Amino acid sequence: MMTQHDFYINGDWVKSESSVELDVINPATEQSVAKIRLGNKQDVEKAVLAARQSFETYSQTSVNFRLDLLTTIREIYKRRLDDVAHAIQIEMGAPNHLAYGAQAKVGLGHLKAAIEALKSHETEYKYGDFIVRHEPIGVCGLITPWNWPINQVLSKLAPCLASGCTAILKPSEIAPLSSLVICEILDEAKVPKGVFNLINGTGAVVGEAMSSHTDIDMMSFTGSTKAGIAVAKASADSVKRVCQELGGKSANIILDDEIFEKSIKMGVQECMENTGQSCNSPTRMLVPVHRKDEAYSIAKEVAKNIVTGAPDDNETNIGPVVSEVQFERVQKLIQVGIEEGAKLLTGGTGKPDGLKIGFYVKPTVFGDVRNDMTIAQEEIFGPVLSIIPYENINNAVSIANDTDYGLAAYVSGNDNDQLHGIARRLRAGQIHLNYGSGGAKAPFGGYKQSGNGREKDKWGLEEFLEVKAIIGI
Ligand code: NAD
Repeated sequence: MMTQHDFYINGDWVKSESSVELDVINPATEQSVAKIRLGNKQDVEKAVLAARQSFETYSQTSVNFRLDLLTTIREIYKRRLDDVAHAIQIEMGAPNHLAYGAQAKVGLGHLKAAIEALKSHETEYKYGDFIVRHEPIGVCGLITPWNWPINQVLSKLAPCLASGCTAILKPSEIAPLSSLVICEILDEAKVPKGVFNLINGTGAVVGEAMSSHTDIDMMSFTGSTKAGIAVAKASADSVKRVCQELGGKSANIILDDEIFEKSIKMGVQECMENTGQSCNSPTRMLVPVHRKDEAYSIAKEVAKNIVTGAPDDNETNIGPVVSEVQFERVQKLIQVGIEEGAKLLTGGTGKPDGLKIGFYVKPTVFGDVRNDMTIAQEEIFGPVLSIIPYENINNAVSIANDTDYGLAAYVSGNDNDQLHGIARRLRAGQIHLNYGSGGAKAPFGGYKQSGNGREKDKWGLEEFLEVKAIIGI
């Protein structure tokens, strides 16, 4: 078992000021795989001081310097891919095809996108009588969740470093191990001292201390809407910039045409991927009412064939949910779905057969869901799909938009004009037509309570930049 009691501050591993320890639990075995310290306010002070001092010089580095640095980081990251993937697997339970095939690999895409965005970014230009400049905001606090741990860390860190900002990262205390590998990579890449700092800890202590700190200029937060609101409130007194990437309850409109069956199949698989623990999962499937029985039987069949099991088994489609807390939460919401009168098509409460140890959940599909039911409105963050019948396209669009969230939406069908017409009416940051993927380049972020930030490529870079006008030449 690994023990990492230190934090990475000013280019060194530094003893934590706190004595509070936390076990990192492998959700597949329920065993501790590592111990970390949960930092405190004094740890944050040290990191802020280091990041502030290094900002003086790092913000003045040339674009070429930062391009070389990011390229070196990417090369080392490529070599350490398996270490990143292994850490992700034992900290949050992603199965092989995801941990090694996607969760770790997306980091390469984010680094590449930041490099390309920086290369083509116009730092300074004339606009009428003015000069407009884009300058790094300053010291940035980065707070990330456990569900796609490195995807979130690098969608922030890559553009942050590209912009000339300095960073303090607080990864999820539930999944901190992959970020420790990131520290090693940045250390080997010789990122200048103080430019990147990492503190482990809880949101309530370290997250709060960062958000309220007067010497942090921006908070870039990804996580639940509840915690995002807490960050914004704690940040308000110091008027720092707050970028929020929050929860979702994405609708998936299945159109009544020839690819109906394929659309349902893919929709179920997308919803269950990562054990339903993706912010943009299509968790509300909208089907035409006159074909609902057909939809139910296809969805049920797909869900029943999903292999739930050990993350390191190549046969596994989905692993456990991340923690006991999450397991209990998902169980409760499945029970609420049953009690509120949704039709349980497959799955339900309890663990799948043969899986006594590990936080495994049965892939669950509900039919006859009404959009005002709890399972249609709350983010469940488990392998649970709610199928909602719709009367016509207007009704489908209105159900899709009837949510507090607005992170993503999905539409599947044959007719391109119809798909695009519907996409323009949906109030969400990314609209996936026939399950198209935006990769590391399409702007990513939410409408409404899904947040106010945009990550990836040039939009991600711009989040870390101030706009300055120089007037009167
Ligand atoms: P969470 O909100 O519990 O925790 C996320 C991070 O915030 C953790 O590092 C946590 O320690 C910290 N935190 C918690 N309370 C805080 C506070 N008061 N102040 C400062 N920091 C605080 O979320 P989670 O359970 O780790 O992740 C799942 C959530 O993240 C889901 O809601 C999911 O939709 C969302 N998410 C959103 C995106 C996106 O890009 N929009 C991506 C991934 C996950």
